[in-house]
Amino acid sequence: MSDTDITHYETRKAICEYGRSLLEDDLTTGTGGNLSARLDEDHIAISPSGIPYEEIDPVDVPIVDTDGNVVEGDVEPSTEVPMHLAVYRERPDVGGVVHTHSPYATTFASLGESIPASHYLIAFTGSAVPVAEYRTHATAELGEAAVDALGDEYNAALLRNHGVLTADESLGDAYDVALMVEYCARIHYQARAIGDPEILPDDEIDRLSGKLDSYGQ
Ligand SMILES: [Zn+2]
Repeated sequence: MSDTDITHYETRKAICEYGRSLLEDDLTTGTGGNLSARLDEDHIAISPSGIPYEEIDPVDVPIVDTDGNVVEGDVEPSTEVPMHLAVYRERPDVGGVVHTHSPYATTFASLGESIPASHYLIAFTGSAVPVAEYRTHATAELGEAAVDALGDEYNAALLRNHGVLTADESLGDAYDVALMVEYCARIHYQARAIGDPEILPDDEIDRLSGKLDSYGQ
């Protein structure tokens, strides 16, 4: 059987590639973080548990049903599978989910402070990055807290004392949001370190949201 005969080969390959990007872009270290993509109404592909990103092959990427049962792949799925499934369940618009412990955004997560619109690129995620209540990692309760914070209007949330969750139409889009959240967190941190950053008003964020649809194209 050649690689391309594997079911959902392209999506599982994308999970491998974005996993390696997490390390290259300093969004995570070691085996931290996890990512997933919706395959159809009842299934997602998600990064496996405990394998270094450099070593994950498409065939290792588990396919999981909406109850969390592995239907394909010999490797255990990420322990955060309940959180990923909670997002897909509550947000039919979402096709990809990324979870990181990126350092600047996680700094705000540990403070329990949302990241406000001190830079216009926050509009990728909404008017701010809200904070989800603290829940133990790898529990269904963490998933509930995360979807509560995301609501219908945000594409990212901080997981209090833990990290970042992003969700968007595709895995690639969710990955871009994870990069933007870390960038905006870093700028906000730096701005706060030497001054008092001005926050953009909500009506400007609304205006930007429309323009950013074509950002980078
Ligand atoms: Zn985590």
